[in-house]
Amino acid sequence: MDGVFDVAIIGGGVIGSAVARELSRYQLRICVLEKELDVCNGVSGRNTGLLHSGILNEEGLLRTECCKEGNAEFEQVARELDVPFRRCGKLIVSFGEEERIRLEGLYRRGLKNGIPGIRMIGHDEIKEIEPNADGDFAIFIPSAGILCPFTYTIALAENAAMNGVTYYFNEEVTGIARAGDGMFAIHATSGTFVSRWAINCSGLSSYQISPMLGFDSYKPKRVKGQYEILDKKAGAYLSLPIYPTPNEYGAFDVHVTPTIEGNVLVGPTIENIGTELDYSATQEMINTLGCSGEKLFAQVKRDYYIRNYVGIFPTAEDPLTHAELDFQIQTKPSVPHAVNLVGINSPGLTSALPIARRVVAKVKEQELLIVNKTFNPVRKGIVRFSSLEREEQDRLIRQNPDYGEIYCRCECVTKAEIKQAIHNVLGVCTISGIKYRTRASMGRCQGGYCETRLTAMLQDELRLDKTDILLNKKGAYMFTGKVK
Ligand SMILES: Cc1cc2nc3c(=O)[nH]c(=O)nc-3n(C[C@H](O)[C@H](O)[C@H](O)COP(=O)(O)OP(=O)(O)OC[C@H]3O[C@@H](n4cnc5c(N)ncnc54)[C@H](O)[C@@H]3O)c2cc1C
Repeated sequence: MDGVFDVAIIGGGVIGSAVARELSRYQLRICVLEKELDVCNGVSGRNTGLLHSGILNEEGLLRTECCKEGNAEFEQVARELDVPFRRCGKLIVSFGEEERIRLEGLYRRGLKNGIPGIRMIGHDEIKEIEPNADGDFAIFIPSAGILCPFTYTIALAENAAMNGVTYYFNEEVTGIARAGDGMFAIHATSGTFVSRWAINCSGLSSYQISPMLGFDSYKPKRVKGQYEILDKKAGAYLSLPIYPTPNEYGAFDVHVTPTIEGNVLVGPTIENIGTELDYSATQEMINTLGCSGEKLFAQVKRDYYIRNYVGIFPTAEDPLTHAELDFQIQTKPSVPHAVNLVGINSPGLTSALPIARRVVAKVKEQELLIVNKTFNPVRKGIVRFSSLEREEQDRLIRQNPDYGEIYCRCECVTKAEIKQAIHNVLGVCTISGIKYRTRASMGRCQGGYCETRLTAMLQDELRLDKTDILLNKKGAYMFTGKVK
């Protein structure tokens, strides 16, 4: 670590990175302390990637307000940060009379929440919008969209880093003390970070960091959701997310969502779990995903399954009512210079920048911030060779022959893109770091073809030994030694 900071942000998910980016608009020395080896390794990388509209939450909640704000501004955000995004709309479909009545209730909430352009439609219009969807009635929500949560989080973090924020990986915060001069002494894996401000953006660990900072402890409510990822062959048949009508308790069963890259996500299931972070996938739930998913979209076939994953909702419980808490952005007079974020559950991805702006406003309540005149909101991502027209591809190959060498065949990722990913501004050097920056190994073969080449390239570019190279986490070595 390097000196004393004005602000230490705990957690490098979409929220911590959005807060880092928004605070870098001011003259502050900022660091992000992240326990994993890259950003987006927590909840932010294990969700549906939907730009929610705000229909799913009650009027008047902070999460509804932030969601609507985040949704409305996303064209500009996507342009500034070079994040692929499609405002494709969404269908919530109903079958039969009982579901229609519940759907109308949801529609009325949508009107009350001021969701732009929503309308109730019948079977024929459902088919017009998406021939592969079905239902007697549906709510069509034109403002909903899809984005890649990895690209978005990486873009926020890179933009923050470009504007002076320092990211420290492999730094798990284990304790926080307050020195006599009011500075925070934040104990982490490699030592102690000293900072005037501390901001808790630690997602699922927020309930542990809260009392360390001097805020109330609260009870996490762990709900797990399993997903199946389908091949792009299935994606060719789905243009927008299809949700079923919520059940009588207001919960949504499994839905189907196209990804911005052309795959399809089926899920999540909803399972209450204990306090352990259980990321296991079960055959029972894979079967459930298949049965529920195919009711909405006929292409949910086992042949198309390429991978599964689990997300855990960072839900916080009201100690009195046991109901789920709204987003909490807490400050406390007895704990100056601290902001505590709790219960940043869905739609946290959509709401990241609106939440970050509210954090900045809380900081401004306690001190005058001086504008960073060199702040640049624009970040450019790695150009995707596969998305270019043939002439543009030819031009790039002529300029740099590394564009002519395909490393990942499934996703058509070139050597040039992989090199750029290895030399990323955050200094991430894992195989997954390359994967989430380029899509290498995210296709049908899941790295069977390219992973050894990615390893060799990391080794060459960063002058590492083979046995130093990690898949994604501390201890996850690609190689442990020679067989012969
Ligand atoms: C299944 C599921 C589906 C969802 N779908 C959507 C959706 O479609 N659209 C939407 O808008 N929202 C969605 N959400 C919500 C959204 O994903 C979250 O609100 C958001 O990602 C929360 O981001 P975060 O940065 O707070 O948490 P995280 O991404 O978990 O970031 C917290 C970070 O803190 C780090 N950390 C933890 N403890 C420590 C420590 N002690 N020291 C240092 N670092 C630490 C973690 O490693 C992690 O990187 C979904 C959530 C789930 C679970």
